Amino acid sequence: MPAHIYLDNTASTPLDEQVRLAMLSYMDEFYGNPSSIHSHGRKLKVAVENARKSIAVWFNVSPSEIFFTSGGTESDNIAVFSSINSFDIKNVITSPLEHYAILKPLSYLSSKKKINLHFVRHDGTGNIDLNHLEELLKKFPRSFVSLMHANNEIGNLTDIETAARMTKENDGIFHSDTVQTVGHYRIDLQNIKADMISASAHKFHGPKGVGFLYIRGGCQLEPLFYGGGQERNMRGGTENVSGIVGLAKAIEIGYKDITLQKNHILMLKKKLIEMLQNEISSINFNGLSGDLDKSLYTVLSVAFPRNEHTEMLLYNLDINSISVSGGSACSSGSDAGSHVLKAIGTPTDRISIRFSFSKLNTMEEIYLMMERLKEILKFKST
Ligand code: PLP
Repeated sequence: MPAHIYLDNTASTPLDEQVRLAMLSYMDEFYGNPSSIHSHGRKLKVAVENARKSIAVWFNVSPSEIFFTSGGTESDNIAVFSSINSFDIKNVITSPLEHYAILKPLSYLSSKKKINLHFVRHDGTGNIDLNHLEELLKKFPRSFVSLMHANNEIGNLTDIETAARMTKENDGIFHSDTVQTVGHYRIDLQNIKADMISASAHKFHGPKGVGFLYIRGGCQLEPLFYGGGQERNMRGGTENVSGIVGLAKAIEIGYKDITLQKNHILMLKKKLIEMLQNEISSINFNGLSGDLDKSLYTVLSVAFPRNEHTEMLLYNLDINSISVSGGSACSSGSDAGSHVLKAIGTPTDRISIRFSFSKLNTMEEIYLMMERLKEILKFKST
């Protein structure tokens, strides 16, 4: 069995060893409930509040603006439902390229006639047209706007600083799904005037099932979950203490090592782009993912011509011990269901594979993966 190569880090990343160690004692030694007033409870409360303070510093916000959740999907859902309920929002602006954690709640609300949904235009490569956003905001002021920072399938980055400013100038509420950029890009929320951003720990070497929603102070939202009053009444439910500790540690490591991590990953991505272009004919890159300067550095989405060798490519890579995705992990391993690839008009005679990297991948893995890929595609090594 050949060595296994994991290139699906946009779906989820391996847990960092330092994160695992930081979490351990909160899974056994320190038990109890952080809401209890006795010493067992207090220890956990302190851990949760220290994590909150540590995260707040990296984003240049107040700890009271960080709300722990179960991850990206929950943070996105709270942002959508709570904003619309709390501010009696009638118009919502988003893009067809958003993650389903945004698109599905919005289409549900639209189907119930609770909101009017407006889609901002994008160009053929998936870039959001900010002039069109401004036009929509002028037409529909006081809108809720949700635009992702980086697309998880094609890697396009959106200038959320400008999008947030435009939204605020038109009395709107701005949310960004920053699930693919938190831990990989520094985000200063004093410069970016977003009202809300979503994060998920497992996308940057933290544990699964934990994340946060940043809510700007003064943005009084109604809770989505009612219960024991945790998270300042915003999200009832006993806190996932070990997860929260791991989340804070993963953010700390991600940001302390950010330049090292980014340069290493960019070197792998650049090499893979070069090898694909030089050694395999008729490929192209979806969205802007092939542009090292303009895309999320962790993602490379490649469109192969559909033929007898590529028809089962995802499956053949898997049996050759290479884990990658079709469109996104959520499109069940096949690009056929990818709403993003469809929206940017990827022709149906192409088979798309998303390679996504982490700091733990090596150059040797990239070479090995290329050898196996060429073998599957029946390209001979040069
Ligand atoms: N938003 C984006 C852009 C994502 O890539 C994902 C995960 O794939 C999510 C939201 C959902 O995050 P989670 O898996 O933490 O629910």
